[in-house]
Amino acid sequence: MTTETTFRKGAPATSQRALDAVAKVSTGVFIDGEWSDSASGARFNVVNPATEEVIATVADGGPEDARRAIEAAGRVQKEWAKTAPRERSEILRRAYDLIMARQDELALVMTTEMGKPFAEAKGEVAYAAEFFRWFSEEAVRIGGDQTTTGDGKNRILVTKEPVGPCVLVTPWNFPLAMGTRKIGPAIAAGCTIVFKPANLTPLSSLALADILIEAGLPKGVLNVVCTSKASSVVTPWMESGIARKVSFTGSTEVGVKLLEQAAQHVMRSSMELGGNAPFIVFEDADLDRAVEGAVAAKMRNMGEACTAANRLFVQRPVAEEFARKLAERLAALTVGDGAKDGTDVGPLVEEKALVKVQELVDDAVAKGATVVCGGSRPERPGYFYSPTVLADVDPGADLMSQEIFGPVAPVIPFDTEEEVTRLANDTPWGLVGYLFTQDVDRGFRMGEALEVGMVGLNTGIVSNPAAPFGGIKASGLGREGGRVGIEEFLEYKYMAVPR
Ligand code: NAD
Repeated sequence: MTTETTFRKGAPATSQRALDAVAKVSTGVFIDGEWSDSASGARFNVVNPATEEVIATVADGGPEDARRAIEAAGRVQKEWAKTAPRERSEILRRAYDLIMARQDELALVMTTEMGKPFAEAKGEVAYAAEFFRWFSEEAVRIGGDQTTTGDGKNRILVTKEPVGPCVLVTPWNFPLAMGTRKIGPAIAAGCTIVFKPANLTPLSSLALADILIEAGLPKGVLNVVCTSKASSVVTPWMESGIARKVSFTGSTEVGVKLLEQAAQHVMRSSMELGGNAPFIVFEDADLDRAVEGAVAAKMRNMGEACTAANRLFVQRPVAEEFARKLAERLAALTVGDGAKDGTDVGPLVEEKALVKVQELVDDAVAKGATVVCGGSRPERPGYFYSPTVLADVDPGADLMSQEIFGPVAPVIPFDTEEEVTRLANDTPWGLVGYLFTQDVDRGFRMGEALEVGMVGLNTGIVSNPAAPFGGIKASGLGREGGRVGIEEFLEYKYMAVPR
């Protein structure tokens, strides 16, 4: 038992419908096409953050399960690499159809284990499925190249091969999409997989395993081990000498640890790490559009997103009006159990997250910020935090240099383009930046000046399966999705053939 659960008197119960959806999910370790208990027989709790109730227990994997999983992935790699691209494509396409056919049920499971409102969970299920559809189309487009050496004496024939067994590790905030964004291209490329989802939200990923089997994925290609102690499973995979690649989404701190381990075996590495997104509003922006952009970039997933607007820089003449309008929008949102109709903002994922958000708000206020709305947790069970707007935030406040991961929008006034460029780039991270301006030249100029992997120009949403998602600096290595997404799972080989 790894999750301490406090039952508060009068806590609203998880609905029977949600519990029924959760009860359908297989909760063992999934190795070589079979579900079983973990080697130790231990299980860990999954908690509904809206009610603080234990909703399921899941097999708690350890080193022995990890060993079996990576050996299965290693055993079938060669055979899997030889399958027809069309076969891999069709498995992904069938999985896409199955996910969409079960969109409501999967969304309910996700809401119940993670907290996000049901409508957002449905959106994530569709987004997650889309990675399978996208990569089903890419599986049959893995190309190569052919050329002649400069002296005309040799042919150069370039082919692409699957990189080999992959270690996939994902976070809790997008429980399904973070998995499909890796599993989709791995399957399309012909790689086998050992997969460890986040222990706070294992159920969505476990449901995915059954879907892929139903879609026809051969035994051993996907192995899923959940655990309450990540390193007890992931470290044996990294040290196995069998895995050839690691693809990780999560915090920069853990990403760095995995890169150190990957270095020991010179493994290919893709890292989708933290962010500290600047959201910049110039005085010439359409302010209402900027406010809507901020609602999307800040409130999606209760602010628990690597892409969340973390620092809202607003040009001084419109800063007050922007903060007021944003506060009006956020204060009107309904906070509650994501499974209930009409909820806009669900709970944070766990109590620890709530404590951190409150500390960051308190620090900003101590350093001179004004609370325009919110600023505290509502009096009710569940890990809820009220949507919050802070005005006149000092650039020295802790939330300027840390991921807030909560529904808190700090507004920082600025004067000039040069100043905001310097402030926006003054962070180790470089995932995404948002810009609101009606000046085309400024939009391009600022888009180029921001040290990030992705820019939203007059939009608060950048994530899309057709786009190369990823960051620079401490935000990671590599890209997921788009045309390049599959390349992360392919190796180049060339043959020199005399003419
Ligand atoms: P986390 O780094 O704590 O955990 C991520 C995963 O790593 C989990 O599965 C966890 O169990 C596992 N893990 C933890 N310690 C490990 C270890 N020592 N060895 C191997 N695996 C280990 O992050 P989190 O709290 O789950 O997620 C939030 C973080 O993820 C934020 O920093 C957020 O910005 C980032 N994130 C990034 C992206 C992106 O695409 N760039 C997307 C979503 C989330």
